[in-house]
Amino acid sequence: MKVVIVGNGPGGVELAKQLSEEHEVTIVERETVPYYTKPMLSHYVAGLAEEKSLFPYPIDWYEKKGIKLLLGTTAKRIDAEKKVLETDRGTLEYDVLVLATGAKPRTLKIPGWERMYTLRTIEDAKRLKGAVEREKDLLIIGGGFIGLEIAGNLSKQGIKVKVVEKMTRLMGLDEELTERIKGELEKHGVEFYLGRDVERIENDVLVTDKEEIPARVILCSIGIVPEVSLAKESGLDVNRGILVDKTFRTSKPDIYAIGDCAEHEGIICGTAKAAMAHAKVLANTLKGIPDEYDFHFRSSYFKFGDFPIAIVGELTDRGEWIDSETKSFYRDEKIVGVVVLSDVRKAREWEERLRSTR
Ligand code: FAD
Repeated sequence: MKVVIVGNGPGGVELAKQLSEEHEVTIVERETVPYYTKPMLSHYVAGLAEEKSLFPYPIDWYEKKGIKLLLGTTAKRIDAEKKVLETDRGTLEYDVLVLATGAKPRTLKIPGWERMYTLRTIEDAKRLKGAVEREKDLLIIGGGFIGLEIAGNLSKQGIKVKVVEKMTRLMGLDEELTERIKGELEKHGVEFYLGRDVERIENDVLVTDKEEIPARVILCSIGIVPEVSLAKESGLDVNRGILVDKTFRTSKPDIYAIGDCAEHEGIICGTAKAAMAHAKVLANTLKGIPDEYDFHFRSSYFKFGDFPIAIVGELTDRGEWIDSETKSFYRDEKIVGVVVLSDVRKAREWEERLRSTR
């Protein structure tokens, strides 16, 4: 079977790994470098990881696995009737086509927005690293997991970091968890401005509805926009992401979508861990092994500097601390989710337990 995968991120690469022994796998990727680990980008910006350590799979890895990697190639249109993918470098026939096109950073078009940096690619990371090393300070707009990871790693390295967030809570968590995360990062000098509307950037100042914050380097980290242009152009059903069922089938036959570009029941997973899990479920499906992905069960593990946090299962409005590091969330007297601070091993045990009782 000819499997063509668009996108060389964790979703695309994991799927290629799973299928390459039995099938003819081609990856189409518009970037010109092999796979790199995006979760390590903030370590690289902070000087905690060298550039080469971001690249776990050199070109010859793909060759050894029998995966054909077409770098510097942009997929332009799908002819679903003829089962052909058109790229800017020619056409490819497929039996199965998988869109693993990922996402772009969401931007904020306030006056002065051109001054802002975003962080998604290795090129973005190089630009940001240069600016941070020059100015030794960073203001991050957005208190999501990516913003907090960057805040943790850079503050650890002595960079003056400020985080400005529209909501009064971080990562959509409750007030108590927000206070815990905030407290840990404040120990490293991170300043938080929560519940602020940002209005404009003027010279070296970010103006919010409450104050003017001096800021020479500003990073916009307010979430992602799934990359759906190829799917939309080719007539697939899309909403914010490409619409898929629990086995990652799109609205057209033999075309699947996984990772950050895929949406199911309004959910876009948005993590590398989920993208790889999607790939495993899809690989099973394509091998004829019944499998489906549970989009409502979260399994996210992050580290903000030295502070690990895991979010597992479903978070409801009823939360209670089990111990000083574990907050559990209930539905009808049953624990359906937990947030575990500091102890990743404990989080994994909870994950097993919660999955087995779903
Ligand atoms: P991507 O990794 O976005 O890959 C998609 C690829 O498709 C891209 O290389 C793109 O160039 C290519 N592409 C798109 N359209 C086309 C086209 N038309 N033709 C050819 N190629 C195309 N996740 C975690 O689980 N834990 C973390 O701690 C974590 N930290 C993060 C920190 C940072 C700074 C960032 C940026 C992300 C982080 N993430 C983390 C999120 C994680 O990196 C993403 O969820 C993951 O990369 C999504 O994988 P993907 O395969 O769906 O897409």
